[in-house]
Amino acid sequence: MIQRFLEVKSSERVDPRLDAAFGLALYALSLLTALAATRAQETMLGRLAIRSMVEARITLAYLAKRDDAKLWNQWRVYGAGQVKLAFLKAQEAVGDQPAFYDPEELHALANEDMWEEFLDIDLGHWTKSNLRWMATEADEKDLYDRFYGWSSSFVHAQWGAIRDTDFVTCHNPLHRLHRIPRAVARKQASVEADAVELANGMLDLLDTLYGGETGVRRLTRDPDRSSQPTDANKAEPPAAASTAA
Ligand SMILES: [Zn+2]
Repeated sequence: MIQRFLEVKSSERVDPRLDAAFGLALYALSLLTALAATRAQETMLGRLAIRSMVEARITLAYLAKRDDAKLWNQWRVYGAGQVKLAFLKAQEAVGDQPAFYDPEELHALANEDMWEEFLDIDLGHWTKSNLRWMATEADEKDLYDRFYGWSSSFVHAQWGAIRDTDFVTCHNPLHRLHRIPRAVARKQASVEADAVELANGMLDLLDTLYGGETGVRRLTRDPDRSSQPTDANKAEPPAAASTAA
């Protein structure tokens, strides 16, 4: 993919279409490789990654469908504005900054394309709409319906995700099957196949936009490492049951 980027890049300093198309696909691949490298595809982090990949995929699909120079630029400017907003919030905040926050880095990022004084901070969504609408516009509504809801539960720390990750049903018959904390977070069905599907879809889009004679090589999965859904929620006796119940 990087090879293709170098082949097709223009001499312009800022090329919003090129950077967005390759950037969104690269980000998806980075999420995927980070999952694989840390074996996190069977944890709740896998679901957080999937949620982000769905957003990247639909955003790219929408931008590619429209393929409008103004829109590519709008997406980039909106993102830079968000960095500026984060920087300003950090300046206003009292007390210690979060350790992952680097004000100098944010300032540099916000100003990379243009001086921040000229950068509008748009507090809405960059298309003035939402991901569902973008998915519909990009003919990716099915993908949205399949992936968005359940993965979003994990991002938003909703009860369903918490129940699925950190609780188990107590098997003491006198306890009427109440839920008790797990000793360790549940190993969940792997997101590997889904992550590969989402990423390959983005490579398809990239080929549409910047395809050459060969196209970008697709990801394949090792058939020997097929992901089996792990235990059902009610099937596994918890290690902590006897003490926690
Ligand atoms: Zn109990």
